Amino acid sequence: MTQEWDAGRLDSDLDGVGFATLAVRAGQHRSPEGEHSEAIYPTSSYVFRSAADAAARFAGEVPGNVYSRYTNPTVRAFEERIAALEGAEQAVATSSGMSAILALVMSLCSGGDHILVSRSVFGSTISLFEKYLKRFGVQVDYVPLADLHAWAAAFKANTKLLFVESPSNPLAELVDISALAEIAHSKNALLAVDNCFCTPALQQPLKLGADIVMHSATKYIDGQGRSMGGVVAGKAELMKEVVGFLRTAGPTLSPFNAWIFLKGLETLRVRMQAHCASAQQLAEWLERQPGIEHVYYSGLPSHPQHELAKRQQSGFGAVVSFEVKGGKAAAWRFIDATRVISITTNLGDTKTTIAHPATTSHGRLSPAERASSGIHDNLIRLAVGLEDIVDLQADLARGLAAL
Ligand SMILES: *Cc1c(COP(=O)(O)O)cnc(C)c1O
Repeated sequence: MTQEWDAGRLDSDLDGVGFATLAVRAGQHRSPEGEHSEAIYPTSSYVFRSAADAAARFAGEVPGNVYSRYTNPTVRAFEERIAALEGAEQAVATSSGMSAILALVMSLCSGGDHILVSRSVFGSTISLFEKYLKRFGVQVDYVPLADLHAWAAAFKANTKLLFVESPSNPLAELVDISALAEIAHSKNALLAVDNCFCTPALQQPLKLGADIVMHSATKYIDGQGRSMGGVVAGKAELMKEVVGFLRTAGPTLSPFNAWIFLKGLETLRVRMQAHCASAQQLAEWLERQPGIEHVYYSGLPSHPQHELAKRQQSGFGAVVSFEVKGGKAAAWRFIDATRVISITTNLGDTKTTIAHPATTSHGRLSPAERASSGIHDNLIRLAVGLEDIVDLQADLARGLAAL
């Protein structure tokens, strides 16, 4: 550790400061060089002052780095900053969002445990549970996200963990996180929330009662579509298990990507505000267009959970989904007519993206599964970026004209 400089001053100065200040300043440990911004530490191992120092560090008797699969100063700065933003005792970084989910399940669950997962989670999350974790005896059931009665009814004696994405992708359904946390705790289970779509700038699940929060940092935390990473955060006692798994199994974050995410966090709040403002404007405009059947966006008063979204989140996010008049062919014509927006399924980027969920992210589901998840053939998902709003609206108008 390079605490000698004035890390004490940096830490004490941050008592009680706000989100944007933490986003810019939390987690920095300045080296003796006195760099103003965080340094990247591209090293796999660390030298010791003596054999006795090595022994003491390996035994955990003195703080300090040993090997970068365990700790790295750049990665630690990112972990401390995101922990501050989520209000977590501890955060641990991972190589991707998926390895964050893998790490939390592998470290907190055992074969024979039962996990409840919200029905419309990220596609690879379902594959992870269905194809791999089930092979190791983990039982999984899926519950409609918004239905608290269904959650309560789905518990078994061995239910250990609830895993939810709120808001959901692509239909922007929500669950009342405080109410679900109460249900989970009354049955001695843990609640984990994938906070990828909101980021801590819009929603802080731990403050609402969740036990664990995880992210794909690949999305809004990077914010510019350039690097993969993830993070798990929560109480130190739970994170101790996650850290143990990650250090042993190895899907840890590279210091280069941690450095990119530190930069991303510094602009997270202003970026999310801009993403949300454009998404709101486009959602309202789309809702007025005759070629559009329905718009799914929790910032619209027509959204059935608009009031919950206002209470639980400080912004409505930047994913706007809508159904066009006509079926799949009309949806594809709409998408193909755009000239500025990128046809890709990624999100959380400066560049606006457009996708047809029924034949991409949700293409592996059977038609019946898609129907029960509300993924109709005329549904289009837009993840609003940071381009000029007039250009985005003009591009969507090209889509409408092609219907
Ligand atoms: C992208 C994503 C993930 C997976 O993250 P990767 O970084 O791609 O591994 C998990 N959950 C949600 C909601 C996502 O959008």
